[in-house]
Amino acid sequence: MALLEGEMYEAYRAELLKQYRHLLRTLGKDLSKEKVKLVHEAFDLAARAHEGTVRKSGEPYIFHPLAVAQIAAGELGLGATSVVAALLHDTVEDTDITLEDIEYRFGPKISAIINGLTKISTVFDSVDRDTSSQAENFKKVLLTLGEDLRVILIKLCDRLHNMRTLGSVPESTILKIASETMFIYAPLADRLGLNAVKLELEDLALKFTDPDTYKDISRQLVETKRVRQKYIREFIEPLKGELEGSGVNIVEIKGRPKSIYSIHRKMLRQQIPFEEVYDAFAIRIIIDSPLNLEKADCWRVYAIVTDRYRSHDKRLRDWLSHPKSNGYSALHTTVLGPKGKWVEVQIRSKRMDDVAERGLAAHWRYKADLPGAPITPQDQAFENWLNTVKDTLANSDMSALDLVSEFRNTILGEEMYVFTPKGDVKSLPVGSTALDFGFAIHSQVGLRTIGAKVNGKLVPISQELRNGDIVEIITTAKDRATTDWMNQVKTGRAKGKIRDYLKAQRNRLSVQGKEIMERLLRKHRFELSESSAQKLTRHFGYLNPAEFYHAAASGSIKINKALLISILTKTSVTEMAENSEKIVPSAEQKVKKAPKQQIIIGDDHDFPYELAKCCHPLPGDSIFGFITIGEGVKIHRTTCPNATNLMSQYGYRIIPAKWKDESYDKSFAARIQVNGIDDVGLVSRLTEIISRDMAVNMKSIHIESDGKGSFSGWIEVMINNLNHLTLLIQNMKEAHKYIEVKRLDEA
Ligand code: MN
Repeated sequence: MALLEGEMYEAYRAELLKQYRHLLRTLGKDLSKEKVKLVHEAFDLAARAHEGTVRKSGEPYIFHPLAVAQIAAGELGLGATSVVAALLHDTVEDTDITLEDIEYRFGPKISAIINGLTKISTVFDSVDRDTSSQAENFKKVLLTLGEDLRVILIKLCDRLHNMRTLGSVPESTILKIASETMFIYAPLADRLGLNAVKLELEDLALKFTDPDTYKDISRQLVETKRVRQKYIREFIEPLKGELEGSGVNIVEIKGRPKSIYSIHRKMLRQQIPFEEVYDAFAIRIIIDSPLNLEKADCWRVYAIVTDRYRSHDKRLRDWLSHPKSNGYSALHTTVLGPKGKWVEVQIRSKRMDDVAERGLAAHWRYKADLPGAPITPQDQAFENWLNTVKDTLANSDMSALDLVSEFRNTILGEEMYVFTPKGDVKSLPVGSTALDFGFAIHSQVGLRTIGAKVNGKLVPISQELRNGDIVEIITTAKDRATTDWMNQVKTGRAKGKIRDYLKAQRNRLSVQGKEIMERLLRKHRFELSESSAQKLTRHFGYLNPAEFYHAAASGSIKINKALLISILTKTSVTEMAENSEKIVPSAEQKVKKAPKQQIIIGDDHDFPYELAKCCHPLPGDSIFGFITIGEGVKIHRTTCPNATNLMSQYGYRIIPAKWKDESYDKSFAARIQVNGIDDVGLVSRLTEIISRDMAVNMKSIHIESDGKGSFSGWIEVMINNLNHLTLLIQNMKEAHKYIEVKRLDEA
């Protein structure tokens, strides 16, 4: 084989061949000759292209794409096309191979996948990433969801292998990669139904960001393993006879320990020690039934289990009839097991189990194997989700930040199930309102919603829904959406529909308003020319004629003959034409009145931001931007007490920021701490320095005496910049020998 002739492969030849053969075996015997040839060519090309490059761990680079291909085939159950793409996934990015080369040798399908992977690989895998474009980069990842899903699936395999081998990368990179993994890849894996991948990504992220906790929990899991297994045997024992006699084919009964990360989260959330995470495992019963009997058989097993053990009446989860939107389907119940312990029992078929472990990839494989197979509720649920994703992505006017937070909050977030009065189920993100539900049914229903009945009770449209609610939407004959509605919905779908509607509505009103004005002017023997439109717009203080017409149509402008004449005849038509150049700038001036941006976010001079309340940044301070969820960018000082925490935990949400210049007429809040010896008149001397000597405005002052001869407190002032503040502090210090003055809110 050509690929193994390279010198650097000498030491690795045997291992590389072994792994490659393993990959071919994983793909299966049924692989056609052409496909085998394609895989072989891809491996050959990748090995040559990466020749001479080593990974941080010291092994030849080719081991990485080979491992990614192995994950794709072995753990996700993807086929030859994906394996070829996985083998080649870093070639265009890192080597001389071009996309054209790939297309020429492997065809358009594979080159499209590689193209998608290359677009997002530039994003995270280089060490010197530009933090300011991080949101853009996340957006790129999300956009691939609208294309061939294999792009994101292979990307997840790539990320999984990178996480598994993260140990050999520098510390700072580890934190960033791990946080990106938690931020976007684990939720994505979850939403694509790749449960095993999601759990492993989370565990690995914890392992690298909090190694002590990780080691601690895994040690305790090992220590308690025997006890757990014994308990599971005790639990199963009394069920065996009946299960065997039931005629249902039981494939496997096993105890599944919870993931390290989920145990950690539970311990944190409930502030409890390891021993008290009582449901550290679940019992899974897997049956083998034909598709048309699997539901009924699951329920039979359920009946046998709950005959023996009392079930918790609030913990039955029927994902048989209503699969989760990632395709997950099973029956979950919690029963009172031996020794009075509550135990979660999951009942599902082999097919469901495979979908649950390998997600949509496996799910597709089943469909491909069974042409003409019935569309299962799982297919439907997943397709609905994918449509929601595409809806959101189609909302092209969303900024990268909005899009990413929209995805995090709704599409990748937790979901709940809400019913129509007829029993149809809709899945919505947790926190959705009655109005969201209206839009989930149909945009026409959403736009006409005036209220809802939730479980028979009348509620306003802004009512937050809960899992299992039965919701009936009450509508009128007319569309009712207003700008206000944007705050009363949570889903991207509803927001998009409302925005579209409002935009169309504005345009409609503008056209109407223009017609109204034309009629009015004609009636008084004027003509609605460009210049008269400008005059009217200016007189009523609108930014442009469209806004003016809009106001005219919505009735907020009162105009009579006398007023019209006075506006339009002030200058003659010819003068108007001459002046029109002056008029245009006047409209621009209005725009300029908007608050001046003092901070450049990344390279963007107009990006909206807010100053953080925890550290009160001043011009002259060194600062950074932090992308919050839902509140835009917040500016912090690099010495903010929260800064280290933010930077280490959320490195990917940090954006560089700097002051445009330091001379502003605007003033900024700053806090000064003062302590000292109680001396008659000292406090009033201080306030005198501030407000008279330095002409600085005080916003508030909190000074307390301890009654034993000393005082302490803080003063909030409005200051121009850092130099100004330094000078003020200097002057205050000179007021007394025994006084300490310093700026507050510093780490
Ligand atoms: Mn890679």
